[in-house]
Amino acid sequence: MRKKIVAGNWKMNMSLQDGIELANEVNESLLNDAPSCEVVICTPFIHLASVAGIIDTNVLKLGAENCADKAKGAYTGEVSAEMVKSTGAEYVILGHSERRAYYAETPEILKEKVNLALANGLKVIFCIGEVLEERESGKQNEVVEAQLSGSLFDLTAEQFANVVLAYEPVWAIGTGKTATAEQAEEMHAFIRKTIAEKFGKDVAEATTILYGGSCKPSNAKELFAKPDVDGGLIGGASLKAEDFKGIVDAWKA
Ligand code: PEP
Repeated sequence: MRKKIVAGNWKMNMSLQDGIELANEVNESLLNDAPSCEVVICTPFIHLASVAGIIDTNVLKLGAENCADKAKGAYTGEVSAEMVKSTGAEYVILGHSERRAYYAETPEILKEKVNLALANGLKVIFCIGEVLEERESGKQNEVVEAQLSGSLFDLTAEQFANVVLAYEPVWAIGTGKTATAEQAEEMHAFIRKTIAEKFGKDVAEATTILYGGSCKPSNAKELFAKPDVDGGLIGGASLKAEDFKGIVDAWKA
């Protein structure tokens, strides 16, 4: 059975103090009521070491939102995969549409980041997804396939086992406009088929594919009920412990 995951992406929100408070709240709520899936919070770099010190990794894992495409050296302001790992983080989000759009992260740059993250023992949550214009012109499959092959298809199946995919239609991120469960399932099934063609059926069946884009406690259950949707990557709703827990609880029977 492949792993079910709910992962939060805090983005550029929360002072250090507010972030510690939120991490504490999420951790406490999961200790009081054990989750039925893996739960991850991905925080800004500055929170990582402090949050690592307060969470119980039996119920809550930690991730970063990015890492550098270089191993080390004179890259002022950058944070390497090795540094992320040294904080106690287990995951890193790569390829988020905001990084692709605002920081010009190309498939080639992302390939370097993925390689460095995996080489340093991090698991990668790799985001893919089309913009509205691409969906409206029926190009979503081709876009997603190019994002996958451009950054991930030189990996071995063994390396790929440490990659979680997150399908995030850009038109649904932070807009309140969720993809329907049917649209999500259709794309997730296509992604799984694409992975099967490249890495084989067993690898594809074992790959966790998350949905992201305006996922909330009110729509999570319907999305997660689809056979190829293995959980969610949650932006806005991960900033409130109650909402985030509500989404985690969508995995409960
Ligand atoms: C995201 O940015 O990864 C995301 C899913 O955001 P939101 O849930 O706010 O749409």
